[in-house]
Amino acid sequence: MKKFFTTCLRDCYDTCLIETIYDRKEIRDIRGFEKHPITSGFLCPKGNKLLKYLNHPTRIKQPMAGEFLNWKNVTWEEAIKKVVDAINKNPDKIGFYSYYGSSGLISKNYPERFFRKLEAIGFESAICDRNGQEVLKKMNYDAFQIYPEDIEKHNLAIIWGGNPKWSSLHHWFLILKHNLKIIGIDVIKTVSLKDSYQILRPKPSTDWFVAYAISRILIEEDLVDKDYIKENVEDYEFIKEWILENISIEEAVEKSGVTYEQMKKFISNLYKFKPAYFYIGYGIQRQRNGGEIVRAIATLAALTGSKIFFSRMVKNKKASDYLKGTNLGKLKKYNQMLFPDVIEKGKIKVLFVFNANPVSTSPNSNRVKEALLKEDVFVVVSDIFFTDTAKLANVILPASTFFEYFDIAKSYFHNYIQINQKVIEPLFESKSNYEQFGLLAKAMGFKDDSFYETEEEIAEKYLSFYNLSFKELKEKGFLEIPQRERKRGKIKFKIKLNNAPETPFYEEEKAPEGYLRLISPVHRDLTSSQYFKITTNFLPDRAFLNSMEAKKYKIRSGEKIRVYNERGRAEMIAEVKNEVPPGVLLIYKAPWESITGYSPNLFTEDKPHPIYKGSQFHSTFVKIEKILKE
Ligand code: SF4
Repeated sequence: MKKFFTTCLRDCYDTCLIETIYDRKEIRDIRGFEKHPITSGFLCPKGNKLLKYLNHPTRIKQPMAGEFLNWKNVTWEEAIKKVVDAINKNPDKIGFYSYYGSSGLISKNYPERFFRKLEAIGFESAICDRNGQEVLKKMNYDAFQIYPEDIEKHNLAIIWGGNPKWSSLHHWFLILKHNLKIIGIDVIKTVSLKDSYQILRPKPSTDWFVAYAISRILIEEDLVDKDYIKENVEDYEFIKEWILENISIEEAVEKSGVTYEQMKKFISNLYKFKPAYFYIGYGIQRQRNGGEIVRAIATLAALTGSKIFFSRMVKNKKASDYLKGTNLGKLKKYNQMLFPDVIEKGKIKVLFVFNANPVSTSPNSNRVKEALLKEDVFVVVSDIFFTDTAKLANVILPASTFFEYFDIAKSYFHNYIQINQKVIEPLFESKSNYEQFGLLAKAMGFKDDSFYETEEEIAEKYLSFYNLSFKELKEKGFLEIPQRERKRGKIKFKIKLNNAPETPFYEEEKAPEGYLRLISPVHRDLTSSQYFKITTNFLPDRAFLNSMEAKKYKIRSGEKIRVYNERGRAEMIAEVKNEVPPGVLLIYKAPWESITGYSPNLFTEDKPHPIYKGSQFHSTFVKIEKILKE
């Protein structure tokens, strides 16, 4: 029997370190590695099913080439030749779309060396947490103030627009383990809210009013944390004046539905249980007012001397440049939200998709499909499964699971770098990204050393930028990343971002008459579109709505409805749940529409935010109608 260190490389905050048990030529078991300081001892229910990836009957087993549903098996040599020929025909129109399908540092970044050498088109991250990141950076906010180890120093977690019980189980576990009280603030009554000491449920997109109205009460009643402000805030007088001039508590109550008494209670709970921290979820910033809502929450946090948790990953520019091979050439970068637009404009003729399933995860999926199906675009997809994106490829390359390749990884929750040892040789004819792009580089005749370093050499050099030892990582499985001194100044409330006003602002956003706001959070059994093939509890075809809406539309649970807007339509089963507020239709993201027949991304808004440049998934409006039996 042999034990290996594996790191769960799904797109998840927790980045668990796993102990993989290998015996008699097979992987026998996986379990959370007990000595890991944060993810010790257990995996989430999805993680417990990771071995199902290995021999899943629908895994892509060998390279294929052809057209939609008419592919032929080809050898790796033939597949590589087809790809190289396509590149040589269109050397100036190469593009790639890659995301967190594998969060391994090598599998995610080594391929970029290939595309830099080609000076290809790439897409900068926008669909996930961009709006929040942009605003927090401008506020000089250390977006990752809270480390998991700091949770126990707090008595109160204010979970605002997040659902860690489903999406970051180890964070949730630490909150419970250290007996923190929870104030849950969300439009949806999520499972995380159900355990809260106080619950606030603002109407959709009105959190901005709640955060500033509470801030106004704090200022008026002289309850702001003066010591913290003096020490950590640059322009308190500016925000004080702005709030007093612009924020009306009556208006906030009317818009949000959160009462004055609830706001007062929030303040008294916060001070009763201080120190508190604000956990700001990703979903809340994926809307028209998302960036400004994060700004409002971060303002409230600063006024109460509280820290925030948003997303954190220690970065080292030199290490990152080395990994991506920035010495090899420049990429032409576009906003990720503009992916179909760039193809429609004819800028890409050979498109690579790996570590990603944009047909399921990008907004306006019909437009994405049309772009990929353009006759003059040659699409190469590497994946473990026939995802909705892989099904539109001209060449399909079988990708390995992370039990079949070596990698290292960091987390956007904790501060450890981890190893992912190769446990078994790749099954079938699958290959890791490192192998695939190594083969392509060789076939293109690239001679640069960057393409011929081994994975272990890459890991060792990468770690050296952090003064960490690869030998030690191999022995221990994880190493703490040394913190660099942060050079950010004090928190600023007045910020300059693109053409936006420097002061906070809010754009009225009402559902057009007859429409519901579509909210598409992640389901417990998926992380974005990942795990779709191996989890079993995911409810297909369900669209959830409040009993008030159900009454209005004369719809009962279990009845068929049509959901539609100008971008798409689908037939679904209604389910009446008052966890969803009036005016909202909830459909969990991001199922594979080719299998379920629906996806919320058939409908979602696909314009990047004009200021913050991130996504606006939750600023989508749809109509519904009952489908009458024939
Ligand atoms: S999905 Fe997240 S919580 Fe689950 S095993 Fe993977 S890293 Fe851990």
